[in-house]
Amino acid sequence: MGGMDKAKLIDCAAPQYDEVLILELLHAIEFAEDAHTGQKRKSGEPYIIHPLAVAGILCEWGMDIDTVIAGVLHDTVEDTPVTLEQIETYFGHDVAFLVDGVTKVSQARAGMRSLDTYLPGTKDNLSKLMISVGKDVRVIIIKLADRLHNMRTLEHMPRDKQKKIARETMEVFAPLADRLNMGRVRVQLEELSFRYLAPKDFNRTKTLMDSRIKKSQRKLGKVRKEVADHLTKEKIEFEMDGRVKSVYSLYKKLDRYQGDIDRIHDLIALRIIVEDVSTCYLVLSELHTMYTPLYDRIKDYIAKPKSNGYQSLHTTVEAADGQVVEFQIRTHEMHDYAERGFAASFHYNESKLTDAYRKGAIATLPADLSWIFELQEAAAKASEGKSFDADKFRMKLFSDRIFVYSPKGDIWDLPRGAFPLDYAYRVHSDLASQASGFKVNGVMKPFSYHLEHGDTVEILTAKGAHPKPEWKEFIATSHAREKLRQQLARDGGVLGHITKAATQMIGKRLRKR
Ligand code: MN
Repeated sequence: MGGMDKAKLIDCAAPQYDEVLILELLHAIEFAEDAHTGQKRKSGEPYIIHPLAVAGILCEWGMDIDTVIAGVLHDTVEDTPVTLEQIETYFGHDVAFLVDGVTKVSQARAGMRSLDTYLPGTKDNLSKLMISVGKDVRVIIIKLADRLHNMRTLEHMPRDKQKKIARETMEVFAPLADRLNMGRVRVQLEELSFRYLAPKDFNRTKTLMDSRIKKSQRKLGKVRKEVADHLTKEKIEFEMDGRVKSVYSLYKKLDRYQGDIDRIHDLIALRIIVEDVSTCYLVLSELHTMYTPLYDRIKDYIAKPKSNGYQSLHTTVEAADGQVVEFQIRTHEMHDYAERGFAASFHYNESKLTDAYRKGAIATLPADLSWIFELQEAAAKASEGKSFDADKFRMKLFSDRIFVYSPKGDIWDLPRGAFPLDYAYRVHSDLASQASGFKVNGVMKPFSYHLEHGDTVEILTAKGAHPKPEWKEFIATSHAREKLRQQLARDGGVLGHITKAATQMIGKRLRKR
């Protein structure tokens, strides 16, 4: 059994990394096999299959070789007599740094005792803790691969443990994958958790979905062919595939639609992948020429990416025979990022990786991911004087940040100079729109107060309170400014800017032709 995982790992690694690096990987495999000798998993299989499978997953995600090697070694320090010093001697600083991060994250989690004590209200804190303790986002990516394999082999655990692990996966790890825009991983984790948390619901929903898909397959095939023929005739280069909704997301959606599957139009979406952004809008306009668009369903996540960086155009159209189809249009780059997310920014070629950091490529990441780097910095400061030279992988750090607390103890990071309204918009924009005042550390403060590191901020609201244009003066973050702008525009009854942006782009493109 272990042999199979080993062969799979080597098969994945061989075409990706240089020969010297492969030798290093083989060395790590031997070292881990040795260390885990005699240990067994709950299934009765040799323990080594687990770290090998985890490393295999990391390799599939296209991670750099240090991360893959750290995957092979990730349980050695915690579960065997192997020391961190040995790992550093044999495999270098970077690998040792990652293994140390994984070990510390496990220990920090173990210290949090039962799920019920730490889950409510502190889920987000747990992911932040993991980042800060792990110090490097690659540690979290290793933890995600670790959790994915544990979920895949969960059947060997006793029933109560299954539920507990599945719940933690659903509430902590899946959202963490989502925050890193690792969409495919999030879906896999949710799907596996759902199966264990609510097996009856899972089976019922899956049966419903399968019969439904079977029914619409023919009509959908027809639409797909029509679109392919049309785009080819228009000389647009594209790839098209169908994406089936996950059982869990269908379940959640059915819940919102009183169980009426007829109202769910994105059971299968057709995905069109093209070369560049302007072709995305061109394809959108072609689709709207062919079919009747349901206008209120256009979503322009290219002009306005989701907070985790996801980009695509979504539109839902009605074909001639009444078949409603959702289309997702994106570039190859957007597709890669939607599937692999943060992992897509790591390449096996180490020099390229460090170069990218040096050139500040990280600055092009979505703003909402900046919390990762801030926490890394905080962690680096906290552990000053450690022997590890983290500079090599130190990402762009932000020194002008403060951390403030909600009354419940949740941590929020903001730029220095931020106002209470910036905090309010970060917590929830609806809440912010009803703000009537702020208590900082229990004392009333004006809207013009500058938040300080360590402040506890309470938002006071009043029924019927509205956002005001003057608030712009008491806002320092672009996030809050954008939310306020939207709220003021909505109050003024202006057309949604998303549809407007799309229309403009289409117009531009059409004029060019
Ligand atoms: Mn493990």
